[in-house]
Parts: sequence; structure tokens; C-alpha cells
Amino acid sequence: MKTSCDICVIGNGAIGKASALALAQTGLEVVLVAPGSAAAAGASAKPLSDTDHWDHRVYALNHVARSLLASLKVWDAMLVARIAPVDSMAVQGDASDPSGSLSFDAYAARVGALAWIVEDSNLNQALDAALRFASGLKIVHGAATALERTADAAQITLDNGDIVSSRLVIGADGAHSWVRTQVDIGMDYRSYHQQAVVANFESEHAHHGVASQWFLGADGIVALLPLPGHRVSLVWSAPDALAHTLLAESAEQLAQRLMALPGQTLGQLRMLPPAVPKSFPLRLIRTHSLIADRVALVGDAAHVVHPLAGQGMNLGFADIQSLLHAIGKRDQPADCGDARTLGRYARARKEEVLLMHIATDGLQRLFTSELALVRLLRNAGMGLVNKLPFLKRRLITHALGPSLSTHTDS
Ligand SMILES: Cc1cc2nc3c(=O)[nH]c(=O)nc-3n(C[C@H](O)[C@H](O)[C@H](O)COP(=O)(O)OP(=O)(O)OC[C@H]3O[C@@H](n4cnc5c(N)ncnc54)[C@H](O)[C@@H]3O)c2cc1C
Repeated sequence: MKTSCDICVIGNGAIGKASALALAQTGLEVVLVAPGSAAAAGASAKPLSDTDHWDHRVYALNHVARSLLASLKVWDAMLVARIAPVDSMAVQGDASDPSGSLSFDAYAARVGALAWIVEDSNLNQALDAALRFASGLKIVHGAATALERTADAAQITLDNGDIVSSRLVIGADGAHSWVRTQVDIGMDYRSYHQQAVVANFESEHAHHGVASQWFLGADGIVALLPLPGHRVSLVWSAPDALAHTLLAESAEQLAQRLMALPGQTLGQLRMLPPAVPKSFPLRLIRTHSLIADRVALVGDAAHVVHPLAGQGMNLGFADIQSLLHAIGKRDQPADCGDARTLGRYARARKEEVLLMHIATDGLQRLFTSELALVRLLRNAGMGLVNKLPFLKRRLITHALGPSLSTHTDS
């Protein structure tokens, strides 16, 4: 079967789904290519309920992400009882130096919340529901096997023989992007030799909406993010060897390690079912371009950053926003994938993506160094930033999402 459309989105992660929804909402004809069969997708679409286990994968979504998802009617379709606002952040430098700490709060930033902790399953369920009702949007199932481009169109062939012809192809197919390799966009790749060990815990004391982070030098970075009720979600970016140890330990042993963190106020911790942590390898991917003829990359296909600042998914939502803007300003209404439109998108994203790479990679290096002088300087630096309201406000503004720093939603 052959389908013609304006835009073909490859990839059905949260960023691919949100891209397809957002572009269809502008009146363009969109096809979303999702791997696997329609039957398998339908079978796995079990509705999430308030009593389901807490998802290992959670994201701290910022104001840009929330605003985009609200405009797609996805934010309000999520189960609100499973979302926790982040009211403040407490960052602890080296345990040996209590002066090296930093805190931010929503009140000082004049916003209702710094971010919201959302489960992957909650987000994807709401995106799937919106996809079912979207007009101008078609989902085709299959694996893309060939991408051919002419001056004014691109053609995708799927493994079942179906063909999708479009003006623009959006590569939203994650860190190992097939689209990126088809159009020869190069990249710098570096493994951090770390794994993010994730699990959820019930706590004795309330977290009061505080997201806590500990920089533990050679032992990596621990984040405890608030979930609704007396629950927190752990993301421990641990060097490979330690990660293997943590994964091999019992739930009680991992809880003991967290209870021993300096300044930890949650009291007793108990791992929530399924009481088995998961892990994700951590790496940096810096692509040499976000565009090629008739192609734009978004989300992890375009950039992968260390999760220490919880910004990877947020960057993807900001990509979508920039793409919408660039396509909205296109010179020829009939062509949404011409070089000028794509150039506008790439220029709009260049600075933020570069800054996020520099910031996350730099912080990761700074806080895993064991050199005594580096330790002294990082603790002094954190203590200093904490005492300088202007600098602190600039940092918060950036974390909230550059284009929505004045947003006051709660
Ligand atoms: C431990 C950890 C914690 C994180 N915490 C945060 C956080 O707090 N906040 C935040 O903003 N970000 C966070 N991130 C980053 C975030 O997880 C990613 O940036 C985000 O999931 C990327 O989404 P994506 O849709 O671009 O890619 P993916 O989720 O990887 O989706 C890509 C999709 O493309 C599909 N696909 C692949 N190849 C093909 C093909 N050939 N044809 C069709 N489909 C294909 C795949 O099946 C997949 O569904 C975290 C990351 C980690 C590892």
C-alpha cells in the first residue's frame, strides 16, 4: 500500500508521538511509523489504574513540556493522582563538606512548581489515547527498511512492502536512530561507563515535594525524586562496577545505602514492588547536525545527555516546539520540508542543545573527579551560588525551560 502525506514521523517513543500529534494539529497530514504489528500494540495497551505498580521510568518534566502536552490535551488526560510536583530541589556536594550544598524552590522562582515527576506509562497512555482521536493522523506499523530522497520529497519503505511518501521525514527513533544513519548524519559518542540504577521506595517520613540529589564523587550521583504520597523514585548514576553491585544486592541493602546518605530525612525506606531495580547505560551523543535534505531529527535521535539534570526528554519537547514554529513560518504553504524551514529549525535549537551538552557533561566530570583541588573548588562553588540570589535565579530560569521562565502555572 502507498500512502502520501506531508510529514512521516519515524519512532513511537513519547517524542515521536507528541511530534505527530502536534504537527497534525496544525492541519498537516501526518503518518506515524511505529515498529511491530498493530495487534501487538493493541494487546499491550492495558489501561493504567491508580493501583498499578509504580513505573521504574519516571521523568522530571519542565514547564515547556507541560505547556506543549497541555496544548495537545495530553497533560489533563494523564492520571493526576500519579503525578508529583517538585516544590524544591536540594543538592548536596561532597559528604565530607557540608558547606557545598545548594537549594532551589518554586516560591523563590515565582512558579507553582519547579517540575512534575511523571511516569513513562502514564505519559504514554495519555499520548496513545490522544493519537486514537487525532484527525489528519494515521499510524502505520512496521520497520522502516529504506529511505530515498528526491529534491522535493522523501519515501520510506517498510518491511511489509508499504510505502510512505512525504515532504518531510522526522527521525524520532531514539539514541540508535535508523533515520540518522540513513542520511549520514555523523555524531560524537562517548560512554560514561555508568549505569542509571532505578527503583521506587516507600518512605517513613514525607518528602514535602523535595527532589534531592547527592554528588558522591567516585560513587556517582544519587537522585531521589518525589512521587505522590510517601514515595520516592531513585535514579543512581553509578560507575559500571558499583552498578553491578547495587543490582546484585537485596532490596534491603539498597535501601540501607540510601538511608545512610548524609542529610537524608526520609527515615526508613522500603523498595516498592516489583522490588527489582532496573538499569540503563549512560552515554553522550552529540550529532553533527539536526537536519539533512528532507529530514529533521528530534529527541534522543538528535541528542543524548546525562540524566543528572533530568533534561533529555524536556529537550525533545523543546525540539517539537521549535519545529512547529519553523514549519509555521514556512515560505511555501505546500512544502513543510524545504531547506529554509529546516535551517530555521536547526538554528533555533543549536544554542540550547549545545549548552545542555556542555552543562551536563561538565557537571558530570566536575562531580566525579576525586582530585582534592577539584573537590574543594566544587564545594566552594556550590556554597557561593547558594548565597547569590541573582545567579541562582538564572540557573532556575534555565532549568524551568528557557521560553517559559515566566510561566506561573501550578
Ligand atoms: C535513567 C534516566 C532518567 C531520565 N530522566 C529524565 C528526566 O527526569 N527528565 C527528562 O526530561 N529526561 C530524562 N531522561 C531522558 C529521557 O528518557 C529521553 O530523553 C527520552 O526518553 C527520549 O525519548 P525519545 O522518544 O526521543 O526516544 P525513545 O524513548 O528511545 O523512543 C524511540 C522510539 O523509536 C522506536 N524506533 C526505533 N527504531 C525505529 C525504527 N526503525 N522504526 C520505527 N520506530 C523505531 C523505538 O521503538 C522507540 O519506541 C532520562 C533518561 C534516563 C536513562
